[in-house]
Amino acid sequence: MSIQSGLPEGFNPQSYDALVVGAGYAGAVCARRLAEACGYKVAVVEKRDHIAGNAYDCEDEAGVLIHKYGPHIYHTTNERVHEFLSRFTEWTDYSHKVLANIHGTLMPVPFNHKSLKLAFGEEKGERLYQKLVASFGQDKKVPIMELREKNDPELSEVADYVYENVFLHYTMKQWDKTPDQIDPAVMGRVPVFVGDDDRYFPQAPHQGMPKVSFTDLFEHMLDHDLISVFTGVDARDLLDMGETSVKVCGKPFGGEVIYTGALDQLFNLDLGGLPYRTVDMVFETLDQDQFQPVGTVNYTVSEDFTRITEFKNMTGQVVPGKTTILKEYSKPYDPTSGATPYYVINEPENIELYKKYRARVEGILNFHVVGRLAEYRYYDMDGVTLSALELSDEIISNNH
Ligand code: FAD
Ligand code: UDP
Repeated sequence: MSIQSGLPEGFNPQSYDALVVGAGYAGAVCARRLAEACGYKVAVVEKRDHIAGNAYDCEDEAGVLIHKYGPHIYHTTNERVHEFLSRFTEWTDYSHKVLANIHGTLMPVPFNHKSLKLAFGEEKGERLYQKLVASFGQDKKVPIMELREKNDPELSEVADYVYENVFLHYTMKQWDKTPDQIDPAVMGRVPVFVGDDDRYFPQAPHQGMPKVSFTDLFEHMLDHDLISVFTGVDARDLLDMGETSVKVCGKPFGGEVIYTGALDQLFNLDLGGLPYRTVDMVFETLDQDQFQPVGTVNYTVSEDFTRITEFKNMTGQVVPGKTTILKEYSKPYDPTSGATPYYVINEPENIELYKKYRARVEGILNFHVVGRLAEYRYYDMDGVTLSALELSDEIISNNH
């Protein structure tokens, strides 16, 4: 595999058939497919000093494998995505479990049968559970906003409890908005679960962690004779955006350009910055084997951070006497601060602004945008992978 820091002397973009900006899922999937299916020579430029985008993981000073940009757990219902990614890694059989710390009691999230009994006591919890089963069916996911609409005193009691103790304060910390003020699809990611399954992603047939690491998965995906990766290179220093064409290093570029960064950054924010939430990731290494019983504990009624993740509980790594935890503090993103834009804020005026930036690249036929940043979408890893597979399908079919 060829990964170099910086561009070599005399770097000539014209000697490549495709330039990929960003070495996260969006970029790496496209690079691999264009190299394999079209025989394209591909240059991947990445502004960070490493590959794997926000899925990057590495060992910290204590030797604990951590996720530098927040906890990442693989899960998908999509067979094509699973088949593709499984070419580059084996998976562990880890199932992510999350507990909410509600006034000191740890209850499963998604809120389920067991949580009901912990919240309301054995007898009443069971009665309320049977009522949920009668209303929605067994093993059903019910978005909290849907549960709140039910006109039944007992279901309302459940809805009020869950809304107040699981969603309201956590959502205020994460988004600085109440659950009613944000995109229902975001709240729908974590439904109430009418059943006993206590996994965070119930019903996802494929879930786990890469056997070695996410970074290792990317090393394999980018390991191809026709792919060269250059880290520490900001594509904005290479690209000149015209209305119908793009120049690379000052010369017209006839190959394909796949851009996976934020579109406002590409145009120096000249229409204004696209709003995001960023997160202060605060890691602590503790002199103990284990800190908490599961991968993640959400602090849904207390603390300033949203959640604590303990990496060893997810990776299964054995590091005697040491463990590393991560506290996440969400805050507004300032595009001039050098912070990472983690979460898009899916609101109509932001989508309008995004569309204006997007319109500027639409006339450039060999310029493609894909990924969580470039599409301004709240994608999980599998969603980004699918989007990149579909974009590369299009490019491949135009090539034949
Ligand atoms: P990125 O991973 O952001 O990659 C884009 C790359 O482009 C970056 O490396 C960036 O440095 C580079 N780049 C940008 N601009 C330029 C430029 N001008 N020049 C050169 N390079 C540039 N998904 C899950 O499935 N499960 C999870 O548990 C999960 N947890 C998450 C937790 C957090 C806190 C966050 C924020 C996200 C989580 N995700 C999770 C989502 C996952 O991180 C994304 O879906 C995925 O990483 C997006 O891949 P991408 O390639 O679109 O973007
Ligand atoms: N959420 C919440 N309480 C929880 C878990 C999630 O209020 O215990 C809400 C919150 O608004 C959050 C959203 O549901 O932003 C989606 O949660 P998820 O865990 O999917 O977020 P991510 O892992 O992407 O940060």
